[in-house]
Amino acid sequence: MSYSGSGGGKRLRTSPSEAEGSPRRRRGSPSVYSPSPSPYRSPSPLPSPSTYRSLSHSPSPCRSWSQRPPSDDDADDLSRSRGSDDLDRHGRRPAWRPHANKELGEHGRTGEFSVRIDDYDRLFTCKACRRMLSPPVYQCPFAHVTCSRCHEEVGDNRCSCCGSSNGYGRNRVVEEFLGRIRFSCRNKVHACEAFLPHHEMREHEQTCRHEPIFCPVPQCGFASRAVALTTHLTLRHHWDTIRFHYDENFRASAFTSTIFQSRDDGELFFLDSFSEGRGIALSMICIRPENAREQEFVYELKTPVGNGGRRPWLQMQSTARNTSLRHGLGEKEKVFLLVPKDLPGTEDGNVEVCIRKLGRQRDSV
Ligand SMILES: [Zn+2]
Ligand SMILES: [Zn+2]
Ligand SMILES: [Zn+2]
Ligand SMILES: [Zn+2]
Repeated sequence: MSYSGSGGGKRLRTSPSEAEGSPRRRRGSPSVYSPSPSPYRSPSPLPSPSTYRSLSHSPSPCRSWSQRPPSDDDADDLSRSRGSDDLDRHGRRPAWRPHANKELGEHGRTGEFSVRIDDYDRLFTCKACRRMLSPPVYQCPFAHVTCSRCHEEVGDNRCSCCGSSNGYGRNRVVEEFLGRIRFSCRNKVHACEAFLPHHEMREHEQTCRHEPIFCPVPQCGFASRAVALTTHLTLRHHWDTIRFHYDENFRASAFTSTIFQSRDDGELFFLDSFSEGRGIALSMICIRPENAREQEFVYELKTPVGNGGRRPWLQMQSTARNTSLRHGLGEKEKVFLLVPKDLPGTEDGNVEVCIRKLGRQRDSV
């Protein structure tokens, strides 16, 4: 995921109560933000319909605007003013207000609203270097909003774009806005609940433990964490998972593709079995999230051939490619063990497997 360049609308949430230096809003108090034109704003002492709805969830519903509980008259006013075209008691149309998420039950926090900002990454980029802005930001009278890095590079308190120094300074409004924006993680659909400023989100996504891996079955598209993928393969595709220990031999079939899972650390491996010329080709990949720490795995495959007592082996050793399978299996591996179909002794399709995790001893010290 990139935060640079242009893009479409991005859903995010604003959290006024988390901005540094700003007082926390009292529960149930109406938001001052209103995108309605100012002539429609009502100076009425009565709360707007949305204020009523907020107060109905507050443990102290009266403290925000009145010292008395809502009366029957209030309820009557409410029922009359709920329609979008209804007028208040002064004959004016009530101002529209955004719906707090608490009312929607999405995040359960007062003062948060779901909004959509189109082209956020174009709107809030430094006009000099095109990087995403984060506080502090600077602006000249010609509306060149620039980042602190460009500000320091130019120095001399001048605009990085036009060199203007008159009227050049911090833009506190943009800073405050940026300070309250929280982005959802790209793995929100995989149950990650992180909401962070964009410069922290980049770091988070590099280690997010909800980063998915994908089902190896072509056209399936299922994505999840490793533990859910093995369940999916069993229930949906009727694939058994063979569990093993590193550095120990175990047996598999050359005739079917198989999933292996390490008992030591849960890593998943996929033994791909496919036709190649006059035989069956076997190769292995390691299915890991894209943000997983780099790790090298070496696997060994061998199968006995011929008949009789001391049978020779066909065998190969290679490094397992790491992939999340986000783009499917793609081209077949270039390195594989070819088991000829007509070779005596290979009819049962038995293959011995051993997987080693390089540097494992050093990790455990
Ligand atoms: Zn810049
Ligand atoms: Zn400028
Ligand atoms: Zn995440
Ligand atoms: Zn699947």
